[in-house]
Amino acid sequence: MNPTELYRTWVEVSFDALRNNLAWIRHRVGPRVKILAVVKADAYGHGLPQIAGALMHGGVDIFGVATLNEALGVRAVGAGWPILLLGSSLPAEVETAVRHNVMPTISSLDEARRFQREAARQQKTLAVHVKVDTGMGRLGFWHEEAVKPIQRIAALPNLRLQGIYTHFPSAEDDAAFSLEQVEKFHAVVRGAGVRIPLRHADNSAGVLNVHAGSRRLGSLFNVVRPGLMMYGIVPPGLPPVPQLQPTLSFKSRVILVKRIAAGRSVSYGRTFVAQQPMRVAIIGAGYGDGYSRDLSNRGEVLIRGHRCPVLGRVTMDQTIADVSDARFRDLAPGEEVALVGRQGRDCITAVELAAWAGTIPWEAMTSITKRVPRVYTGAAT
Ligand SMILES: *Cc1c(COP(=O)(O)O)cnc(C)c1O
Repeated sequence: MNPTELYRTWVEVSFDALRNNLAWIRHRVGPRVKILAVVKADAYGHGLPQIAGALMHGGVDIFGVATLNEALGVRAVGAGWPILLLGSSLPAEVETAVRHNVMPTISSLDEARRFQREAARQQKTLAVHVKVDTGMGRLGFWHEEAVKPIQRIAALPNLRLQGIYTHFPSAEDDAAFSLEQVEKFHAVVRGAGVRIPLRHADNSAGVLNVHAGSRRLGSLFNVVRPGLMMYGIVPPGLPPVPQLQPTLSFKSRVILVKRIAAGRSVSYGRTFVAQQPMRVAIIGAGYGDGYSRDLSNRGEVLIRGHRCPVLGRVTMDQTIADVSDARFRDLAPGEEVALVGRQGRDCITAVELAAWAGTIPWEAMTSITKRVPRVYTGAAT
């Protein structure tokens, strides 16, 4: 028996799509640019160990994570891979980060000194990346004040200044602002005047929307940091890229089919009232699985390749959909439902689902909860 028959809700991850997307990114950025694969938040909900394992075979150069725990998760899959911690480190994390050779992101001299002290204590040299704030307004040294600290960090004996980077807040919809950021970043790198082997800025939107425009800066950038696009999704606002294939499908099953008479209401709060007799399907997924409550009366699901509107409130464990159409006359418990992904000729994308829920695909994907088993298809190597 197919083991997913026993699942009422599950995520299907395609290793083939992941490999395809990585190949396309490689093609897009060229052979000399390193790919830093962003696998934070459980690899955008796909499962960190499985995705990291597949990417180690797939030719990425560096891993990007948000937390020390995630870094250790990548370490556990394969030793020796460079891992960049994209978040700042807590003082209490410094010892472990140094012990496991996790590259920290340095946004303050205090942080740099803590890592210097600990690296000296462990008698090693730790590679670090310095972050420059050129307009994101989050981590990093403000660009106008970055040159001196960078020179001081470069002089610390137990740190090796391996990389320098910045981040785009609006690469998908403001290429002009992003290019100004690139200029500011360039000025910092030039001003610091120290050799820093790796220089990077591009997230997915940067790769798709800014990268080409910044070519005139020649060899300034030699690393890209794709997250979303590696999982086959183009950031909302950018034109479609047919070569990218979504890696994640979010699936569920019909658990009950019933008729309701005109005038009867559906689910909590009685926000949907049938205007005529209807047939409804109860689906075995709800916000407890990460199917957002904001999809109440807004979302659509695919059953037999056709779209069925969500009726009433999404509940913790169940969602109700309209299956009044004649093609569903013999619909029965056990039939597959696509919440995100392809079914027949139609496909619900994470971008579409996120828009219905008033959010973004990053949040929609990372909201799928631990209760939902992840199933992998295709070869990981
Ligand atoms: C998450 C993250 C990325 C990846 O962003 P996508 O939009 O998913 O490609 C890149 N860089 C940094 C610093 C990040 O935090």
